[in-house]
Amino acid sequence: MKSLLVWVSLLSGIFLFETVLADIVIPRNRVTHHVNIYESDSSSSSEIGELLSGSSLPYVRSVPRWHVVELASGKEGFVSKSFTKVIGEIRPERAQNELRLHYINVGAGMCTVVECPGPKAPPMIIDCGTVGLGDNDRNTTRTKKYVKKILDAHEKKPNLVVSHPHKDHYGMIPEVLKSVQLNNIWLGGDHDRYKLSDFPDWLEKQKAGGAKVHNESPEDFDNDNSPIKSDWLGCGLASVYTLTVNSGDNPNSNSHILEIRYQDFGATFTGDAEGDTEEQALENYSEKVKTTVLSASHHGASTHRSNHEEWIKATDPEVVVFSSGPSFGHPKCNVVKRYDDAVEAAPPHPTRCGDRSGFKKKLRNTRAQFVTSVNGLIVVSSNGESPLLLKCDGSSGCKAEIAHD
Ligand SMILES: [Zn+2]
Repeated sequence: MKSLLVWVSLLSGIFLFETVLADIVIPRNRVTHHVNIYESDSSSSSEIGELLSGSSLPYVRSVPRWHVVELASGKEGFVSKSFTKVIGEIRPERAQNELRLHYINVGAGMCTVVECPGPKAPPMIIDCGTVGLGDNDRNTTRTKKYVKKILDAHEKKPNLVVSHPHKDHYGMIPEVLKSVQLNNIWLGGDHDRYKLSDFPDWLEKQKAGGAKVHNESPEDFDNDNSPIKSDWLGCGLASVYTLTVNSGDNPNSNSHILEIRYQDFGATFTGDAEGDTEEQALENYSEKVKTTVLSASHHGASTHRSNHEEWIKATDPEVVVFSSGPSFGHPKCNVVKRYDDAVEAAPPHPTRCGDRSGFKKKLRNTRAQFVTSVNGLIVVSSNGESPLLLKCDGSSGCKAEIAHD
């Protein structure tokens, strides 16, 4: 079932080899609901299940006209090649001094894993939740598997940062991190609002296992441009800054805006920051908010002044990542347009945007703007110097080497 596939990158630079750990079968994009799973390689055999749009099953092998998949029961089933395709779960080899960011395509939500540079650096998870999956998005099972593979490669206990208590930012955590003991846990916003399903029990178990849960208040950060102490929230050779947290008057505006800085490279995570949140970060850190890869606030929304002009001008990102799914029309077209001039040029790749009436047709984007629901899993790698390397597994055209200041 597992295949090992090594390919030589077209790029010179850090990525020389990649390992595809496991192949999976997903419905093709044109499948609107499901693909039938048959008992044998004939559509006249018994139907033994359905492969729903937006879901996947482990790939076993192929025979003429059919892919063989493994069902949850362990039985094998047959799905038509006309309606399905095989894709790989990518786990690239990583150099020790690389900072690697995995923006996981969890649909309408956010889930990022950071592999920090340096020997024995602890990995970090920033948000993990969804409120709706689209074609090719990773459900909880696939996300858990992907995150586990990353964390298993690290000795140190991971740290977790949740921007704010909304399901699309923490709902997957109890399952994805079920058997993972964390070191530090940072919960943005009101801790009493983290009440979803099994999260409170999971948190108690984490505490019992030694995890430190940090209370966040603006007073904890003196905003003197010092990074967070590394035993609170370390990232190896990179530094971690809280640009603002709990500065608003509602869960979204309380989002933790966090920056990871590694030499000339910066990555900024915004949760569902609103205009007020972004303004507070600017007030705290002024021009130092300049970054390289910016996770767009609130999945690329423009409500409550998220992604406002001053924020874009000051952060001046070379790359923007929109973590979004099939609902809400995120990212909004007016926000995508605002980022056009800020970001660098990139090879032509598909993206999409929406407005009040829903999604527009897919765009052929030549700016460094990437959308998880279209481009799939997005992996950014940096050794601290220009250029960064970016690739994705869900569309063509997003394998790029991007220079930055
Ligand atoms: Zn959100």
